[in-house]
Amino acid sequence: FSEDMSGKVVLITGASSGIGEHLAYEYASRGACLVLCARRVEKLHQVAQTAREMGALDAVVIPTDVVKIDDCKRAVHQTITYFGRLDHLVNNAGITSICLLEDVDDVTDFRTIMDINFWGSVYMTSCAAPYLRLSRGRIIVLSSAASWLPAPRMSFYNASKAAMAQFFETMRVEFGPDIGITLVTPGFVESEITQGKFLDKGGHLEVHQEMRDVQVSLAPVARTESCAKAIVRTACRGERYVTEPAWFRTTLWWH
Ligand code: NDP
Repeated sequence: FSEDMSGKVVLITGASSGIGEHLAYEYASRGACLVLCARRVEKLHQVAQTAREMGALDAVVIPTDVVKIDDCKRAVHQTITYFGRLDHLVNNAGITSICLLEDVDDVTDFRTIMDINFWGSVYMTSCAAPYLRLSRGRIIVLSSAASWLPAPRMSFYNASKAAMAQFFETMRVEFGPDIGITLVTPGFVESEITQGKFLDKGGHLEVHQEMRDVQVSLAPVARTESCAKAIVRTACRGERYVTEPAWFRTTLWWH
């Protein structure tokens, strides 16, 4: 089984940087039509230009904040109006956090992690499901090894990724054979997230750097390009999981 992506329509959230950007290039090299969503529109236009040069049949930019259900509805609606179909939805947009619970003055600040990572994926999925059912399409979900790894200082992020994993495992059952799910649980991948772009409360950046160094010594940090390649290859084969086993070793350090 190998899905030919030529002319198929792929919507990627968080396509303005990191894994999402490189997923766009991977799908582009397979001749897909791309719908690129995120908040930084200029970056999306640059990605669209590169994607066209790499072989995308077409690449359109739709400014989208996945926290806003109306943005999600518009993204899917414009996709269908323009391309007439949707084959792959990639729920990739995400942010991370670093803090100790007891250092946090206002815990409600961290609701945003759940809003983007979990609810953003749920909103996009609920808007896209009718069209994915028609095309017998696929949803690619960027959860994380963090969904099963109790990495300290990352409780909110870990919980959001575990929620995603469980939600989409359940969707797998609800959708049955009509809509495939590829659940991705990467370890450390070089990107803006791992270079220190996250919700930080209490000055944990230095600790993060230390954690990162230990992780690097235990399990290799993946290149964004390799991660994207593995995800698209696996999704196009119709497989259900992309996991990085090397990450199990890091649990030795956490405990
Ligand atoms: P990046 O920070 O490079 O990319 C995150 C993307 O999400 C950006 O394009 C950003 O775009 C977008 N985004 C953030 N908030 C929103 C929002 N409200 N609405 C729409 N888009 C949004 O990080 P990565 O590429 O590393 O992360 C991609 C996914 O992979 C995330 O879900 C992350 O949790 C997951 N992951 C990453 C790992 C890693 O080690 N890097 C490991 C495991 C999982 P913009 O700011 O323009 O909106």
